[in-house]
Amino acid sequence: MLRETLKVMLDVQELDIQMIRLTRLKRERVTELERIRSLRDDLHHQVVLKESEVIELKKQVKVMEGEMTEIGAKAQKLEAQQSTVRKVEEFNALTHEISSLERERAAKEQRLSGYYDKLSAEEDFLKNLKSSFESTKTNCDQTEQEIKASIEAINKEGQEIMVSRSAAALKANKEILPIYEKLLQNKKDRVIVPIENRCCSGCHIVVTAQHENLVRKGEKLVFCEHCSRIHYWHEHLNLQEEAKEGVPAKRRRKSAG
Ligand SMILES: [Zn+2]
Repeated sequence: MLRETLKVMLDVQELDIQMIRLTRLKRERVTELERIRSLRDDLHHQVVLKESEVIELKKQVKVMEGEMTEIGAKAQKLEAQQSTVRKVEEFNALTHEISSLERERAAKEQRLSGYYDKLSAEEDFLKNLKSSFESTKTNCDQTEQEIKASIEAINKEGQEIMVSRSAAALKANKEILPIYEKLLQNKKDRVIVPIENRCCSGCHIVVTAQHENLVRKGEKLVFCEHCSRIHYWHEHLNLQEEAKEGVPAKRRRKSAG
């Protein structure tokens, strides 16, 4: 009777284990999806940032070019003025002013040349960044589609498992089911396990002969003293003589037959 009850529970358990695996898989895939999206978004953010830096740099260059033109025009004007003056003092004063403008212009030119270098380097960097973003985006988009499809498949499989699980649970013993479910929630692993070679196959700790006999009789639920899992008896797993000798071939033949 208990044997049959546990058999039904084992069906429920297998479906629950499938569901746990599927949930883990889905979580992994969702994490992967988030990682891919953030990778793509980060790179895009870098491109946007660099673009605005380049635009800003171009603006500064333009302003400086304007200033250079202005200084040049000013100097030209002074030179024209110089050719009309008569007094030496005025002439010298203008010479002084013109050479000061030239110095200013030379300094600005040097700074501007630095800006040109910087702009060209930044533009190269932006170009590389963009092309790296494009290829990453292509890869990410493709991987994203694959992951999305795989998540859809997981959802579909999950729904099917849930349907089978509901059907299996209907057949389950109403007292044992909640006990089992609570254990499962704690362990996230099989909680109805066989005794195998005198050991709980959940926690692998040796059980007493008395405990084993109780399980073997199958008159009431027996819990592992160490891990609280429910034990059941499975004849094939307890061919002790063979296990001690370690003859897998013989064992296989027996379980197949
Ligand atoms: Zn145990």
